[in-house]
Amino acid sequence: MSRVLIVGGVAGGASCAARLRRLDESAEIVVFDRGPYVSFANCGLPYYVGDVIREEKKLLVASAQLFRDRFRIDVRVEHEVTSIDRGRQVIHVRDLRGGGLCEEKYDTLVLAPGASAVRPAVPGIDLPGIFSVRTIPDSRRVREWLAERSAKRAVIVGGGFIGLEMAENLARRGLSVTIVEKAAQLLPPFDPEMAAPLQRHLEAQGVTVRIGDGLAGFAPGPVVKTEKGAEIAADVAILAIGVRPETGLAREAGLRIGESGGIAVDESMRTSDPLVYAVGDAVETVDAVTGLRQVVPLAGPANRQGRVAAEAICGRGTHFRDVQATSVCAAFGLTMASTGASERTLQRAGISDYQKVYLHPGHHVGYYPGARPIHLKLLFRKSDGRVLGAQAVGEEGVDKRIDVIATAIQLGGTVHDLAEAELCYAPQFGAAKDPVNLAGFVAENVRNGDMPLAVPDPAAFVLDVREPEECARGMLPGAVNIPLNQLRQRVEEIPRGRVVNVYCAVGQRAYYAVRLLRQRGYDARNFSGGWETLK
Ligand code: FAD
Repeated sequence: MSRVLIVGGVAGGASCAARLRRLDESAEIVVFDRGPYVSFANCGLPYYVGDVIREEKKLLVASAQLFRDRFRIDVRVEHEVTSIDRGRQVIHVRDLRGGGLCEEKYDTLVLAPGASAVRPAVPGIDLPGIFSVRTIPDSRRVREWLAERSAKRAVIVGGGFIGLEMAENLARRGLSVTIVEKAAQLLPPFDPEMAAPLQRHLEAQGVTVRIGDGLAGFAPGPVVKTEKGAEIAADVAILAIGVRPETGLAREAGLRIGESGGIAVDESMRTSDPLVYAVGDAVETVDAVTGLRQVVPLAGPANRQGRVAAEAICGRGTHFRDVQATSVCAAFGLTMASTGASERTLQRAGISDYQKVYLHPGHHVGYYPGARPIHLKLLFRKSDGRVLGAQAVGEEGVDKRIDVIATAIQLGGTVHDLAEAELCYAPQFGAAKDPVNLAGFVAENVRNGDMPLAVPDPAAFVLDVREPEECARGMLPGAVNIPLNQLRQRVEEIPRGRVVNVYCAVGQRAYYAVRLLRQRGYDARNFSGGWETLK
């Protein structure tokens, strides 16, 4: 009978333990977690703070007792693994309830210690009222603090996914919220033009957004001091500036750490020691699009890696695929989702063989009440049309489109595959030409030369084919307005021998204009996404 010890019993560790039991009734499986719970829903914590999830016990997906009774898995909470002696195949475990240190022997060890919230060493970081939200006790402390202080003002440091979710949940509790973000935009994994609507939306909802300003420190209150010299008085401050992989145990045990800072593993989740596996936020993975090594702290990969490790331990040849960081977040009624590479990631990776299109279709047909626009950016390889990434922002239907494109990326799909994707349709769900199909059509039009993309060019003639009342809300400098419906009659007003950069509201009428002009010998091009993207 083999003895498998697992360090960390939440997403990766708990998945690994449960899968192991399903594959091997005889294994002795022991899970250690230094926290008071295993298998809890960290992703639900912001909503517990916001009182959307009212009972703490709803966050417990499975209890230690359930693991014992249903799976005969020995779960030891409040037990911290302090070191690994690989030579003797033992780990040292401290019972945090005062039970001292003991030694546990393993045949196989799985590390699933997750990541820790970044707490920068700035002045005042340990003052009361400054919280990270990583565990149930963390969230409980925030709730208690809010209630005790009758908190009215919150500062969120960090405008990523968790920061946004915390902003929404604190606003839901009636607090006024300020977000301080060091980067020049919210949601740094997104490209800036895709994050811009989010900022506008948050500001319209009364959230103060300070981008391009980092945290300098805290004064009692807490008062949040920024690098640009602002002092923001608050009743509570939440740190949401990212996580660091928990690699201490692995490092000290001499396991190989990857170039991106996560534990290095192979495709079976095996570390540099064949008897030790590692999964979840602590490990380094390969970016499915760029091939670069990275640490991606997301629940989906952690769960799947736990399963892959269990299968590998049981001798199955399952392999973990590369990671494309498919993720979604909602705040203040807006959903932001992305998959694969952003344009910035491609540029950082030195990849220039790409093109991008923007579109803003309704999430379902316009004639059915309630259609809301989805702002979609699609990146694809110029040379062969392979889909590289997508980002979408909108109120409805965003996750569905990004999930479809995510699957296409995993299967090596091209923009033609998106154009041809057969997706479910009825008026309240989508359109016979779904936004995913449209993205494929637009990209195909670019690739086959039907609709070359415009780039800003001072020598170009800029043609706005919207109606005059739309132009009154703003136009590109120097643009000439000829509404699409008049274009055939007025085509002679467009000078020959110059590039004609065309735009409309979202790109569709400009596409019709480009086709009309190109068939009359003009070098017409479309500003993808139109005024909605350009403004
Ligand atoms: P964890 O789930 O963090 O578990 C690691 C466990 O190991 C912890 O319980 C820790 O106490 C324990 N541990 C560490 N070191 C030791 C040790 N030495 N001895 C014993 N125990 C140890 N991801 C998404 O995909 N979507 C979301 O919406 C989302 N929302 C999130 C919201 C919040 C507030 C947070 C904090 C995370 C969110 N995530 C989300 C990320 C997701 O929760 C993580 O990617 C996932 O939980 C990682 O799983 P893991 O098993 O690697 O680590």
